[in-house]
Amino acid sequence: MNENTFLKSYPEEIPFLINIPEMPLFAVLDEAAKKYPEHQAISFLGSQLTYQELKNSVDHFATALSKIGVQKGTRVAIMLPNCPQIIISYYAVLRLGGIVVMTNPIYVERELIYQLKDSGAEVIIYLDQFKQKVANVFPNTSLKLSISTGIQDFMALLAGLYSKKVEATQVNGPEIYYFEDLIQSGEIDLPEVSINVELDLAVLQYTGGTTGISKAAMLSHKNLFTNVVQTRLWLNNMEEAKERFFCVLPFFHVFAMTTCMNLAIYLCSTMIVIPRLEISNLLKQIQESQPTVFQAVPSLYAAIVSNQEVKNYNLSSIKTCLSGGAPLPMEVQERFEAITGGKLVEGYGLTEAAPVTHCNPISGRRIKGSIGLPIPMTYYKIAELLKGEKEVPVGVPGELCIKGPQIMMGYWNKPEETRLALRDGWLYTGDIATMDEDGYTYIVDRKKDMVITSGYNVYPREVEEVLFSYPKVQEAAVVGIPDKSRGEVLKAYLVLKEGEQCTKEEIIGFCRKQLAKYKVPKQVEFRTSLPKTIVGKVLRRILAEENI
Ligand code: AMP
Repeated sequence: MNENTFLKSYPEEIPFLINIPEMPLFAVLDEAAKKYPEHQAISFLGSQLTYQELKNSVDHFATALSKIGVQKGTRVAIMLPNCPQIIISYYAVLRLGGIVVMTNPIYVERELIYQLKDSGAEVIIYLDQFKQKVANVFPNTSLKLSISTGIQDFMALLAGLYSKKVEATQVNGPEIYYFEDLIQSGEIDLPEVSINVELDLAVLQYTGGTTGISKAAMLSHKNLFTNVVQTRLWLNNMEEAKERFFCVLPFFHVFAMTTCMNLAIYLCSTMIVIPRLEISNLLKQIQESQPTVFQAVPSLYAAIVSNQEVKNYNLSSIKTCLSGGAPLPMEVQERFEAITGGKLVEGYGLTEAAPVTHCNPISGRRIKGSIGLPIPMTYYKIAELLKGEKEVPVGVPGELCIKGPQIMMGYWNKPEETRLALRDGWLYTGDIATMDEDGYTYIVDRKKDMVITSGYNVYPREVEEVLFSYPKVQEAAVVGIPDKSRGEVLKAYLVLKEGEQCTKEEIIGFCRKQLAKYKVPKQVEFRTSLPKTIVGKVLRRILAEENI
C-alpha cells in the first residue's frame, strides 16, 4: 500500500520513519541499569530486584555459562515459567552471542524432542519440577548439559539463605548444573563478543507459521530490538521509569517476550512477574500490585470482564493495555475500559514479525474491530489470494503482507518454507484481511487452519497426527469451534477402523499423554465418513462450518 494512504491517518506526534540505533538486544538492560540502577526491575512473589541487581545477576550467570561452554551461536533452550530466572537466562545467553530457544514448559516429551533436535540446542535451562522430563528426552536430542533451577531455591538466594548444592552432578548422562550455584560463582569475567545486529540470531522462536508445520522463525537482534522501539513509539502515553507492567502472559511466547519483558526493560519499568495464571486470584493480584500496563490476549480480558467479583476490586491503576493474538470482541474492550478507566488497544502481529506490525493508536482514532495502522517503519499490502503479487482494491479481502525491519530472517533450516513465506522482501502472513480508505486494516479470517484456544495456537494437523497414531482410528480431522470463554476449542471428527469400538474418553485420555493440555480436543464426534475434496483431502472447513 502506498504509505500516503495510511500516513494521513497517522497520529501527528508519532514519526513513521525513524532511525533505529544499531544495538544488540541485551544493551537495553545495560542502559536501564546505567540510568536507573536503584529502580525496581522485578517484583516476584514478594521479593524485589533492582536494575543493578538484575544486571549483576545476568553478568554473573553469563560468566558461568561461558565457563561451561556457551559461546556465540550456541543454542540454549529455556523451559521456564515467568520468574526472574527466565529473564536472567534470556539476557545472559544473548550477552554471550548465544541463541535462545524458547520452550513451552507444558510440552510433552514428543514435542520437546522435536524442538530440541530441530534447533540443535546443546544446553537447556529448566524448572526443577521438569527434571524427569528433561532426563527422559536428553538421549534423543543434541543436548550436552542441563541447568536446573527451583523457585524456592531462587527465593532463598534472594533472601541470602541459599546453601550451595553440589557443583555438578552426573545423573543418567546429562550433566546437571544448578542455576543458583552458577549465578553465585566467581567474579564477573565476560568474553568480548562482537554482534552483527542484522545478521546474528538472537532467538529461534517456534511457530506453526503460515503452513502449519512447526518451525523456528529466525529473529535477529535487530528484529527484536526494532520491535521494542516501534511498540514503544506507538504506545506513546507510557513514561520512562514510571510504569509497572503486569507480566502474566508467558515470556516464552513472542508477544510477551517483546511487549512485556523487553519493552518493560527498555522503558526502565517494573515487571510484576506472575508465574502462573489463576483467574480466581488475578483481580486481587492486580489490585495489590497496582500495574499501569496490562498486556494480554482477548480470552484473558474476557475472563476479567465476565468475572462476578470484578466490581469488588479496584483496577484503576491500569492505564495502557495491548491486546493481540486473536480478535478482540468490541464488547470486551468497552467493558474492560469502563472497569479500569484505562485504554485498551487492539494490535496484530505474528512470530515472524517479532511480533507486532499493526495497532490502533492509543491517542488517536481507534476503530473497534480493526487491527489499526502499521507501526513505524512498517509497510503492508493486501495481495490477491491466488496469485499473491497484485494488490486488491480497498475493501476487498486478500492476504496481508508485511515489510519492515522487524521481519524475520527466515525459517531455521527450512529453505522451502522460507521461500514461500518471504517473497520480494514481503512476509506473506497467511491471514486474510481488508483495508479501508484510511489504511485501517481488518482481519477477516486465517488462511491457515490454525486454531487459537485460550490464546494458544494449535495446528490441527499436529493433533490429527496424534489421533491417526491411535490404532483404532482410520481417519481424523480437527477443527476449531467457537467457544465463549476460550475463543475456540478443538473438536475432533473420527472415523474408526472397521469393527472397532471406542469412547470419547478413550480418545481424550490418549491425547492427554501425547499433547499439551490445550491441544487436547474438548469434543469428539464419530462419523462413518469425512467430507473430502476430489483428491481425497479432508475438507476441514465444511466440518468447522457445521458448528457455527
Ligand atoms: P503467533 O505467530 O503465534 O503470534 O500467531 C500469529 C497469528 O495470530 C496471526 O497470523 C493471526 O492469525 C493471529 N492474530 C494475531 N493478532 C490478531 C488479531 N488482532 N486479530 C485476529 N487474529 C490475530
